[in-house]
Amino acid sequence: MKRRDFLKSAGICTTLSLVDFYNIFPSDRQDNNRYEVPYYKKLTGGMVECLICPKRCKIVNQGRGYCLNKVNDNGFYYSLVYSRPCTINIDPIEKKPFYHFLPGSASYSLSTAGCNFGCRFCQNWQISQASPEELKGYYLSPTKVVEKVKEAKIPVIAFTYGEPIVFYEYMYDIAALARKQGIHNVMVSNGFINEEPLRELCQHLSAVKVDLKAFTDEFYQKYCNARLQPVLNTLLTLKKINIHFEIVVLIIPTLNDSPKEIRAMCEWIKNNLGDNIPVHFSRFNPMYKLTNLPMTPVKTLEDVYQIARESGLKFVYLGNIASHQAESTYCPSCQKILIKRVGYKVEANNIKDGKCPYCLADIYGVWYDKPR
Ligand code: SF4
Repeated sequence: MKRRDFLKSAGICTTLSLVDFYNIFPSDRQDNNRYEVPYYKKLTGGMVECLICPKRCKIVNQGRGYCLNKVNDNGFYYSLVYSRPCTINIDPIEKKPFYHFLPGSASYSLSTAGCNFGCRFCQNWQISQASPEELKGYYLSPTKVVEKVKEAKIPVIAFTYGEPIVFYEYMYDIAALARKQGIHNVMVSNGFINEEPLRELCQHLSAVKVDLKAFTDEFYQKYCNARLQPVLNTLLTLKKINIHFEIVVLIIPTLNDSPKEIRAMCEWIKNNLGDNIPVHFSRFNPMYKLTNLPMTPVKTLEDVYQIARESGLKFVYLGNIASHQAESTYCPSCQKILIKRVGYKVEANNIKDGKCPYCLADIYGVWYDKPR
């Protein structure tokens, strides 16, 4: 389905002109109104092609790409959300979720409007499926973000909630500045990005969380308006780059929960990415356009957990279910508990110097802040 039809059916207006848009946002900023994005190419007839993500939108003059937050203005391609986050919070890193990256850390979490997917089950659809005009925002330059994070002594900035790939330029500049100040940057993403911008960005990131929505292209096309293979390519690139990453799979009853599909997914992860990659299976809540399905039964999640463990994955978690033992980390070697979690709270962390304190097995992850 076309993006605009998608938004219209969700009751979201997409008709504000650029002039209206600039009137809505405050003008007390130091940089220019618009930010020319680095990844695009000019086509004939005043059109441009966006090169950030595999959608590679081709955009006519005054038109926008699928994610609605970039505009072609007379053959130049601009971001409309640079320095304009719509949501900012301080969250535990476990909420992203990262379970093997600086456990118990706070993360300064921000997002702008927009997404390059159109997931019918989106849990953040008010942000991800809106255009910049529909959301009241802030003006916060990359310099200001880093100043605030430093002042508050927060160790991590998380690009999250909506889809950071569609505010790539803003994320990139924050991450580059923050890294110089010794602050970590993590991206929470659907992984639908082209390889060149991904590699460029990863120079400034410490970790990436990728949502693997399902393991069939049919699901990606039907429920997300996207494709599976580019996401798998991103995972392979992250592995090659050797950056820390974790995977989240939202288990939706009847749509992506068949044992055959889960087994194929887990085997692919093990064979291509390694058995150490943490995989979080999370519970679906009826939301947005998928309200006709029930919450995922706990039994289904426990079956999925079992399949993942049988497939040889060492770190498997269940999420969005209160107080389950599969929220905690166990040593894959001696099975003793390493990190006890209750919800997003870390109750005990026994890992010492990246090792199990009982059998001294190395535990995959970033467990303490190394100088960069
Ligand atoms: S980032 Fe947005 S505009 Fe660019 S190709 Fe992807 S969906 Fe299209």
